Amino acid sequence: MQIQFLGAADCVTGSKHLVQCNGTRVLLDCGMFQGWKTLRQRNWAPLSVPSHEIDAVILSHAHLDHSGWLPALVRQGFRGPIWCSPATRDLAEVILLDAAKLQEEDARRANRGGWSRHTPALPLYTVRDAQRALAQFRPVGTGRAFAPVSGWEARLTPVGHLLGACAVSLSEGQHQVVFSGDLGRADDLLMPAPQAVPTPADLLLVESTYGDRLHPPDDAQQRLGEIIRRTQRRGGSVLIPTFAVGRAQALLLVLQRLRRAGEIAADLPIYLDSPMAQEATAIYHAHRGLLALSAAEERTLCEGVRLVSTPAESLKLSRHRGPAVILSSSGMATGGRVLLHLAALAPNPRNAVVFPGYQVPGSRGGKLVTGAREVKIQGQYVAVKAEVTHLESFSSHADANGILDWLRTLPQAPRQVMVVHGDPAAADCLRTRIEDELGWPARVPQPGEVLPLKDLPAR
Ligand code: ZN
Repeated sequence: MQIQFLGAADCVTGSKHLVQCNGTRVLLDCGMFQGWKTLRQRNWAPLSVPSHEIDAVILSHAHLDHSGWLPALVRQGFRGPIWCSPATRDLAEVILLDAAKLQEEDARRANRGGWSRHTPALPLYTVRDAQRALAQFRPVGTGRAFAPVSGWEARLTPVGHLLGACAVSLSEGQHQVVFSGDLGRADDLLMPAPQAVPTPADLLLVESTYGDRLHPPDDAQQRLGEIIRRTQRRGGSVLIPTFAVGRAQALLLVLQRLRRAGEIAADLPIYLDSPMAQEATAIYHAHRGLLALSAAEERTLCEGVRLVSTPAESLKLSRHRGPAVILSSSGMATGGRVLLHLAALAPNPRNAVVFPGYQVPGSRGGKLVTGAREVKIQGQYVAVKAEVTHLESFSSHADANGILDWLRTLPQAPRQVMVVHGDPAAADCLRTRIEDELGWPARVPQPGEVLPLKDLPAR
């Protein structure tokens, strides 16, 4: 058996790990690269093996950086099953169709505006490709063994982070690989703490998004309340770019709690301008048994929230002036309706823009939270005079201590740990802690590196 690191090897996006044994190939995750242009360009490069030679995909969870390249894989000829948990399948439908729509819209806009260097600008994939990918999904219950391909065994273990998110155990004969996917935190707003993986691993792949950081002890709910109150006092609006899936539901929960506690005005209008977030909230409702939330709180997530549906309503809202809270996606302001609101609100110092959670370096969100005073939106430069705040503690990722706590629950020390899904500093910091504190051999893979399991250190 061997594994090749095709993505998320030196960065936090493009998660893709190809496991091969005796001519059979299983891909763990099939994520899109996001952030810097040099990373995004990797989405256009061919895989190391032709897509039709991959036999199956196992998806850890539905986030775009783990699932978003699936329609491209299918476009290029992949016809095998895509295994994942039932909730991941439901969320992936919303995420992949939206991503495909954005790809198509961006290509159309670039052609109209003439700012693409390619003529005509082509989408990476289309809505039709996403629909074909979705038809290949095979949802499977968590906690029990299944055969992703004949002769192999796999198992999904819930790890918090996002509705449906799981670690993946994969074995063929004597060889055992465990992939953490993205690990949630023990004190997540919506999801229960990560569960222990019951299977041992020769090779363990662990994410390291927060591998060099600890979540600040500050209270995100309290800080958000303060920002909303002071923005309202100066007559401005608070724009919160949010992922439609997961983050939007956590923000709704926090806003409802602030409202109930009287910490924000009961009559302050809250807008949810994201049809995708509304769809995702319905999926959270359908899978509410998986949440760490009382039925009463789950039911009231959208109570009193003004749901913005059509593009015309969204345009009208972007002309709104005066106190309001606007939740809109995408979460790193890389596209979607939030751009309209960002262009309208950013130039006025009365307003506030709050980025909750991790912002990929190079994304608009990443640039703004590191102090950019102007951003380019659809070919135009927009001055940023609004108050910009980064509420990092809104993260749905385990911090470095959380990752180590989860590693300690493994039934046996792995022969080798490969630290993936982290910026170089974060990955290396986690690598050092794993070696020093757990005494396990740990390494950060090179992008494209092939690692035969026979080369692993003996146990
Ligand atoms: Zn994730």
